[in-house]
Amino acid sequence: MNKKMMLLSISCACLIFILLTIPAMSTPAELKNADLTDDEISFKDTYYNRQILNGINVPDKTLESFARFSVWLEEQGVDAEAEEINLIYIDDDLKAVTEYAWVFAAKPDTKQFVAEKIAAEQAESESLFSTESDFNNLNTSFAFFEQKYPVKYVHTGLVTFITVENKKQFVADFSEEDEQMLKKISDIIDKSNENIIAPKWSSSNPDMHGDMARWAAEKNGLNESQIDLIADNAAAPDNWGFPWYQEIWEKNYKHFCGPIALNIGGTIITLAHVGGAPGSCEEYVNIAKNLSNDSKYINLGYSTHFMCDISNPLHTGYVIVQAPGYLNGFELIDYITEVEFSDYHAEYETYVGSNWTSGRNFSEYAEDVNNGMTISDPEESVKNLSDYSYAYSDTVVNKISSNQYDNSLFYATAFCIDEGQRYLIGLIEYGCE
Ligand SMILES: [Zn+2]
Repeated sequence: MNKKMMLLSISCACLIFILLTIPAMSTPAELKNADLTDDEISFKDTYYNRQILNGINVPDKTLESFARFSVWLEEQGVDAEAEEINLIYIDDDLKAVTEYAWVFAAKPDTKQFVAEKIAAEQAESESLFSTESDFNNLNTSFAFFEQKYPVKYVHTGLVTFITVENKKQFVADFSEEDEQMLKKISDIIDKSNENIIAPKWSSSNPDMHGDMARWAAEKNGLNESQIDLIADNAAAPDNWGFPWYQEIWEKNYKHFCGPIALNIGGTIITLAHVGGAPGSCEEYVNIAKNLSNDSKYINLGYSTHFMCDISNPLHTGYVIVQAPGYLNGFELIDYITEVEFSDYHAEYETYVGSNWTSGRNFSEYAEDVNNGMTISDPEESVKNLSDYSYAYSDTVVNKISSNQYDNSLFYATAFCIDEGQRYLIGLIEYGCE
């Protein structure tokens, strides 16, 4: 064989070798760690820094999330100004003082909404006001409250950060009467919004959990029956039966992970990751890791559920204020509240579900993700995702409570789905390695 022939046969062999190895190379998807890129760091330094925030209590990870969101929009080719994207974030110190900070800390353009709702409620036949003086009292005390604690807005980057001018006084003086007044307004807004009976993020139509888990499994190059097992079991944890006294723990607490800020005698303390989702995600992925039969993929499906839930900002924020609604749903304490704040949860999930494969087409933001997040500690990764998704919980509540299904709500949601999908790809990779 001459030299040329030899080279040719070697290169042919190489080509055959490369061709043979291509299917194997399609797995796993490319993974990256959760660190910020240079672009993201520069956004954070420019727009979301402590100097601009000037004492507003915002977790560092929230600022990271906003920076990443800004860069993500650019990558998507979205002109944030033209699309009028403006998120809101309420000072965590305010949220520690009252679960109803969102009621008075609306953006200027949604403030009018609260006044209109109160007025409309008065005219209703089944009004929450029993007398005319009830109505007048609420109006008077709310006006007094707003005067006492003037709301301050800090616009920077794509976010309006919201606090009050005299925060120290607010933290020290906020009273039980103030809380009851804000709760009443919250009930009024919620009541006027009760229009949709909703499936969950999870539910069967559309099966968002199943779809996201399926695409994540596909990107990991699993075979068809493995993918089906994962996807078919991704929604399951929402449908597991439990005795009534375990329902709240098993069906709500374990599907949640987020910060809770508390006002302890004027000192604000934040518990960073309250909720059982990180533990549940880890529990099932570790079961899966040690199996090789069908059960492996069934447990992987369960595990994806708890990661996927955390990409929903209402699974990472507003936990306390949502709790009475859940309890109310079980008719255990329906004397506590006439109306359920958790309607917003259902309304939000309905919005995403009904725009899954049509309208806003949220599913595309999951299906198009090819690269995953490196996962070496699933519990830690759920917490990371939670930090990122929590950043949007104020925007979601503000928008859903005031019926504004706008671009800000849309892109914030799409970003969370995209981010969640990266973690799902990484989680399946972790479970299969
Ligand atoms: Zn769930």
